[in-house]
Amino acid sequence: MTRITTPWLTSPDTTRLFDLFAQHKFQLLCVGGCVRNSLLNMPVSDIDMASDARPDDMIRIAEAAKLRVIPTGVDHGTVTVISGGTAYEITTFRSDVETDGRHAKVAFSDTYEEDAKRRDFTINALYVGSDGAVLDPVQGLPDIPARRVRFIGDASARITEDTLRILRFFRFYAWYGDPDGGIDPEGLAACAEGAEGLEGLSAERIGAEMIKLLSAPDPSRAVAAMQASGVLARVMPGADAALLPVLVHFETELPPIWTRRAMALGGESLKDRWRLSKADAEVLSHGQEALAHATDLSELAYRHGASLARDVALTRAASLQNPPPAELEEMLSQAASATFPVKAADLMPALKGPALGARLQELEARWIASGFTLTKDALLDA
Ligand code: ATP
Ligand code: MG
Repeated sequence: MTRITTPWLTSPDTTRLFDLFAQHKFQLLCVGGCVRNSLLNMPVSDIDMASDARPDDMIRIAEAAKLRVIPTGVDHGTVTVISGGTAYEITTFRSDVETDGRHAKVAFSDTYEEDAKRRDFTINALYVGSDGAVLDPVQGLPDIPARRVRFIGDASARITEDTLRILRFFRFYAWYGDPDGGIDPEGLAACAEGAEGLEGLSAERIGAEMIKLLSAPDPSRAVAAMQASGVLARVMPGADAALLPVLVHFETELPPIWTRRAMALGGESLKDRWRLSKADAEVLSHGQEALAHATDLSELAYRHGASLARDVALTRAASLQNPPPAELEEMLSQAASATFPVKAADLMPALKGPALGARLQELEARWIASGFTLTKDALLDA
């Protein structure tokens, strides 16, 4: 019997919920990422739970216990209960009954064994109750140390039920898969076969998955497999996986930033295809423009910040297969904090309106070209 001991399982906030559900004769189990990551000794970000209680039962008992409840997705069985400082997403045991490839129609069920079958991968269908004992209804435990990402049941059928699982397959492989053991061939073949169905997914869902995938410490094997199976071309037309392993190699200790990886992959119109925020879309378009026009790195750092300039530098380095220069960081931080010494007031009243703007731009360009060294006097005398 495998047991997990972890602070989040025995915390007062969690214990309060276990006790509350037990008192009302309901089952309550933690499931999904929290169990998987605890077994892998990886950080746990949120606690998902499953129960035989129906949403209205959960709301009733939680409110009676003076806990705040948010009806997150009552139709598909999910409520969020706030216990102490922690939010717990609790979903009624379910089984998928009928699907249109995008939204699984759900029916509630009474057992966690049934609930497990509707989940996507074996490593995501491990359950744990208040005693810490791990329940493994679909034989996923051996896949944890082996780092195998496998569909529960028939991979093609599971993809037909919900096409998003294609992207989840690559995302979980990127984060938890064994890089040397390779990707599960049955799952990969099913993804290749079902790739056309990706056209039916919303841009938001594609974007959210791709951002999580590209934020993995090293997503390069997963992305290479996406390219080989024809999935990458569907969600990121024009992208090429070739530079990614080199980029990740040059990143060394830097935190993984998905926009940097996306820049190195290339590809068109991600703003619309992934429904990106304005800020993210701007980072990508500035980066791609700088790559296309070989913009000077210090100018880029001055105009758009060190982070963007660093990402462009690393992407260039990857395409040249040559590490970035050792003095890169110093150069970027100097450039990013440089302040243009001339103000509009310095040129007035001699100049005004568009002529003033044009002159300021011209002086700024000259100052940038000098490596930010020309002084205000030197610039105004010129
Ligand atoms: P993390 O939160 O760390 O990204 P997670 O495993 O908790 O990982 P979630 O997206 O939060 O992933 O989903 C919680 C659980 O719900 C999953 O572990 C899985 O069991 C199930 N699940 C989520 N989405 C699907 C899906 N599209 N098809 C089948 N099961 C799913
Ligand atoms: Mg989760």
